[in-house]
Amino acid sequence: MTDLKHYNKVLTDRRSYLMDKSDQFEHSGDEPFDGNSEEVSNLNVLDDLDEMAQSEIRAIDAALGRIKDCSFDDCVTCGDPIGAERLKTLPHTPFCKAHAP
Ligand SMILES: [Zn+2]
Repeated sequence: MTDLKHYNKVLTDRRSYLMDKSDQFEHSGDEPFDGNSEEVSNLNVLDDLDEMAQSEIRAIDAALGRIKDCSFDDCVTCGDPIGAERLKTLPHTPFCKAHAP
């Protein structure tokens, strides 16, 4: 049984952290990000970091919506449980291990 109240708090806290720190955001390396960094010049680094924060915030908003729908811990691709261990590491992921990007 997934503790939705716990994840609601974790995600809400993380969201306000990102909103506060979005201009000095440190990429944790695990969230989905499909940008092509090869074309990013040094001048665009801050914008790029902000873009990563923005995409994580969008993922968190989607996860909070899934908490309301009671589908938070179901993979959006196959509907199987995402798994407690995986949610502990990546609370905003909508994918199980098999369907992670
Ligand atoms: Zn899946």
